[in-house]
Amino acid sequence: MLLVFIVIGIVPLSFFSYVVLKTYEDKAIENRVKQLQGQANMLSNLLLPTNLLANSDAPEIDKEINRISEIYDGRIIIVNNSLTIVKDTYSLEEGKYLVSPEVIQSFNNVKYNNHDHKNHYLKLTYPITHNTTKDVMGVIVMNFSTKDIQSIKDSLEKGIMVFVASLATLILVSAFYFSNKLTKPLTSIVNFIDQLTEGYLDQEVSIKGYYEIEKISDSFNKMISRMQKLEKSRQEFVSNVSHELKTPITSIKVLADSLIAQEDTPVELYREFLHDITDEIERENKIINDLLSLVKLDKTAGDMNITSCNINELLEQILKRLRPIAKKRNIEMIFESFRPVIAEIDEVKLSLAISNLIENAIKYNMEDGWIRVSLNADHKYFFIKIADSGIGIPEEEQDYIFERFYRVDKARSRETGGTGLGLSITKNVIQMHRGAIKVYSTEGEGTTFNVRIPLNYIA
Ligand code: ADP
Repeated sequence: MLLVFIVIGIVPLSFFSYVVLKTYEDKAIENRVKQLQGQANMLSNLLLPTNLLANSDAPEIDKEINRISEIYDGRIIIVNNSLTIVKDTYSLEEGKYLVSPEVIQSFNNVKYNNHDHKNHYLKLTYPITHNTTKDVMGVIVMNFSTKDIQSIKDSLEKGIMVFVASLATLILVSAFYFSNKLTKPLTSIVNFIDQLTEGYLDQEVSIKGYYEIEKISDSFNKMISRMQKLEKSRQEFVSNVSHELKTPITSIKVLADSLIAQEDTPVELYREFLHDITDEIERENKIINDLLSLVKLDKTAGDMNITSCNINELLEQILKRLRPIAKKRNIEMIFESFRPVIAEIDEVKLSLAISNLIENAIKYNMEDGWIRVSLNADHKYFFIKIADSGIGIPEEEQDYIFERFYRVDKARSRETGGTGLGLSITKNVIQMHRGAIKVYSTEGEGTTFNVRIPLNYIA
């Protein structure tokens, strides 16, 4: 963040000051060149009628040349068309020849100028052209100092530097302040996440800062409360599992102990107790199998074996398998299909879910009762309805029946070999198919489970 502030604050500022100084220098030099060329033009007009170019004295023009060289702080040399220096304001080289490329160039009627940045001087050559013949009669060579421009540029640079430095300090201080202000709450969140990772789930985060940070803090608290609920349900599940697994073992131990304690036990009693022991072992087995199904469903949530399946046939197969059990209690099973339904489902998992619902409809039914299974579909979903004429579920219990190990009537569920896991397995499977399940029930009259599943699997 500090870096961003520096890049967007200080870098453009430095660039800006460079551009300002460069523009000033270029403009000032350009102006100076124009002024000097103007003076050279004026001189050339004055020179032509005099005899200076013919190497004779011309005091009136001497004065003018000296005046210009003083004003602009430099040296003026006049060269005639024999390349002889006829006037040098420094009086050093008069009478000598001056053969430089710039002078030769000017004899071709070219005005030359060059600014020597390093040594701060400006060199110009200006042709003295005859008014009518346009012949170049001589050349004015000027070497002028640009130190005055440089000194203005230096003081300008100093001013800009002070300005840039104070602005940069301001940017740095505010960058430091704001990056600190912005990152401080983030650091608190990081510390908080570290604590969560270490397992301290029992605290809430309260970070004051700007709007977004407070939103993150709110979302975190929501996540923590969800994690707390999950943790609570995990602990409950573990304690329920241990309890459920212990119950048949305790019964087996009581039965076995009482057999050991009795002497001369009749064989019939042995048989009866061993029969009870076998029942308990079977129950233990069923609980373990149901638990394994649940764990497997949790573990393989992303691992669905989806195939296109005929739901009418699937339901008929399930009913065929369960019919003998229903028959034992003289329960009539009716299957109504409103249309053929082909859907993308995991056949094994959905079979298990629907079987659980129909098994419950048998288990919690009356003698001579009925079960009606119906299948329908629209363009998006298929619907399975399982209605029974059973004991029903009290309204206040209906919200809980899908929870693991929840049973309305523990004794009855036990009697019928229930584990309290069937409906939670069913709900899990339906949710994995992105479907929904609803229960409608009136105590003493019967129960209806409505299942809705998309025809096309949504991954
Ligand atoms: P269980 O193995 O005990 O049947 P489930 O999870 O399948 O466990 O069902 C949970 C509880 O919901 C059952 O114990 C029972 O009290 C109630 N229940 C489920 N289906 C029915 C139904 N068709 N009619 C009446 N009660 C039902």
